[in-house]
Amino acid sequence: MADTFVMLEVPINQKDEAKALGARWDPDARSWYVPAGRDATPFARWLPPPVRTHGPTIPARLLGQAEHCYRCTGRGTALTGLLVSHRYSLDPCGFISFDSVSRALAALVNDTPLAERYNIGRIRLRSSFAYPGGYVANACRYCDALWGSFPLQESVTEFLAGGGTYDRLVIGELAFPIAALPSIHGDDEDDWDEDDSDDEAATPGAANEMALPRPGFPPANRPSAAMSRARLTRPRPGSR
Ligand SMILES: [Zn+2]
Repeated sequence: MADTFVMLEVPINQKDEAKALGARWDPDARSWYVPAGRDATPFARWLPPPVRTHGPTIPARLLGQAEHCYRCTGRGTALTGLLVSHRYSLDPCGFISFDSVSRALAALVNDTPLAERYNIGRIRLRSSFAYPGGYVANACRYCDALWGSFPLQESVTEFLAGGGTYDRLVIGELAFPIAALPSIHGDDEDDWDEDDSDDEAATPGAANEMALPRPGFPPANRPSAAMSRARLTRPRPGSR
């Protein structure tokens, strides 16, 4: 029995089912929830997977890009990923894609002053015709339209191909939980939380070696104060 309400992630094609079981719609959060005092067990399939935001953190720079909403033309910012120390990313620039940390970013960015300042829409499970099961995505802060990940990624790729750098997409800094970082081993297990004794069995030796900091590797890059004040400077080539 829950003392407080429980948010659910209900794909749009299952909303009638959730409603029939007693889920209610929160128009502000634009999400279904289990009312307080009600047993959440029947809704287990829609409970979001736990996001590991506890434990040690690393400095991460949050990347976003200015967007015009295709539906309402409102201006806002779509999150596109993180920049972290090379030690925590397979990418030479330390880039981590939005999709691989979207649930953690929802927990860290939704309802913050940063979200307000940059007009970042609510990050949550979204459904579309292409993805009726939904995925955690960006959206317009004004009309809640889904801003699909694929076009956003393409836009970043184009920006980089045109000579742009990740630094110019930085909109702020976060203390990002190591436990929520994607594995750099190419599988889906969490490999960073050394302090969790209830973790899955050890990963193969070769993979473990990869996870260790490389000898002589420079310490994590400390984002400068200027970075934290960085503004979104990339001009958007017209609206879509
Ligand atoms: Zn909109």
